Amino acid sequence: MSLMTLLSYAIDLVAVLLLALGIKGLSKVRTARSANGLAALAIGLAVLGLLIQTQPSLEAWLWIAIGTAVGGLLGVITAQRVPMTAMPETVALFNGCGGLASLLVAVAVALYGGAQAESGVTSTDLVEQISIVISVFVGAITFSGSIVAMGKLQGWIPTPGWTQSQVRHGVNITLAVAALVGALTLPADTTGSSLWVLVAASSLLGIGVTLPIGGADMPVVISLLNSYSGVAAAAAGFVVGSQLLIVAGAMVGAAGLILTQVMCTAMNRSLVNVLFGGALGGAAPVGGGGSEAGYTRITSCSPEECAMALETAERVVFVPGYGLAVAQAQHALRELSKMLEANGTEVSYAIHPVAGRMPGHMNVLLAEADVPYEQLIEMDAINPEFPRTDVVIVLGANDVVNPDAKRDPSSPLYGMPVLEVDQARQVFVVKRSLGAGYAGISNALFELPQTAMVFGDAKAVLNGLLSELRELGVGKVKAAA
Ligand code: NDP
Repeated sequence: MSLMTLLSYAIDLVAVLLLALGIKGLSKVRTARSANGLAALAIGLAVLGLLIQTQPSLEAWLWIAIGTAVGGLLGVITAQRVPMTAMPETVALFNGCGGLASLLVAVAVALYGGAQAESGVTSTDLVEQISIVISVFVGAITFSGSIVAMGKLQGWIPTPGWTQSQVRHGVNITLAVAALVGALTLPADTTGSSLWVLVAASSLLGIGVTLPIGGADMPVVISLLNSYSGVAAAAAGFVVGSQLLIVAGAMVGAAGLILTQVMCTAMNRSLVNVLFGGALGGAAPVGGGGSEAGYTRITSCSPEECAMALETAERVVFVPGYGLAVAQAQHALRELSKMLEANGTEVSYAIHPVAGRMPGHMNVLLAEADVPYEQLIEMDAINPEFPRTDVVIVLGANDVVNPDAKRDPSSPLYGMPVLEVDQARQVFVVKRSLGAGYAGISNALFELPQTAMVFGDAKAVLNGLLSELRELGVGKVKAAA
């Protein structure tokens, strides 16, 4: 083994360690930013390792440099332009790119031969063949499935009627069998047609499996596809003999699977139900009770009345939801919290695991506005606190505070753990109308006697509350005292 090969292995090893540390750091808001930097450094090192490994091929260096520059540039532009509310679509697109990369690597090796030499990964032809099949199969499903998922979340791709019938199972089984035939005949095939059968059948299977799934379940599917992209990358790692790809792919595969499970539990859905149960919510809303006409006992109030309740409250809990992200009202919310704290009010934020449109959406949004991490209280910890809470302000949240999830077996949300804000003394719900949330159903909370609706855009209402409280002298008095 040459010195350069040894050096590239050492760099790969450091990159793997940094990547593992980076992924670990992402689990906490406080360390997430630096962890992301660490992971980016790991990938940079991986590219350096590759340059050393392929030296002195100028042609290979050129391709690597072009690929890195184009990919890096697209990544930077996308990250800067995409709003937080469109993050699930972005993640879907990036997963799709990961799947496509693994697919292309495996296809290239299948067509032009592998490069297992000096890899250090013990490989036999059989291992390489199996890895190629897995990489192509999972990579193609990930790519086409992720693109469909992105299109559905954007509202570009509707859910065709036939995908909600049993026909889709027949179509998908046929495609799976075709992919299996392609995979089994691949080793003996010298014409290359088995490979293309495998690629085509797997790609169509990705579309066939994702197309019937409704918008509300799409983030779960994206998380699962994220896991698949890891599996495809790990398989591609075996194909080209890259330890880095194997380890990183395995980590992504396992992390995606855990996240999928966490999301399913938080939404009270089994994975089987998400994948084979048909459309739910989002792009194709269920229920019909969410119309404004369905409510009969609604009380609404002005920001002024809400401000008066806040002025005297000793304990206030804010419940952020998707609407807060849409309104970009996190900074106004932080300002309001500071004012109340200066008034001696105990303030906290109730975080539901699936509030918003992706896991951790609210944590990231509030961290942007420098909300202290200690004030973000997870659902299980905050629920027992609601009975001793004077005022709850629900900001652009709907499904995650729907009490029907606990008590109405006919509700599509029944069984989903929710924030029990109905236990608080007074509840203000800030939203623009009586329109439904993501699940497309009505919310019994709005009609409870202790609830008052404050209609308006979350940012406008929060700004209204700030000026009302200023007029009342809140914050100043206690701060000066
Ligand atoms: P919801 O989608 O249930 O409700 C959001 C509410 O925000 C709407 O009722 C809307 O009402 C209101 N809203 C929209 N824009 C504004 C605005 N500018 N100002 C004020 N209010 C606004 O959100 P939740 O966060 O309560 O629930 C999340 C939902 O998403 C759940 O059903 C969950 O299962 C689902 N989901 C979440 C995932 C995750 O990982 N986080 C994954 C998959 C699904 P109006 O139009 O009247 O203003």
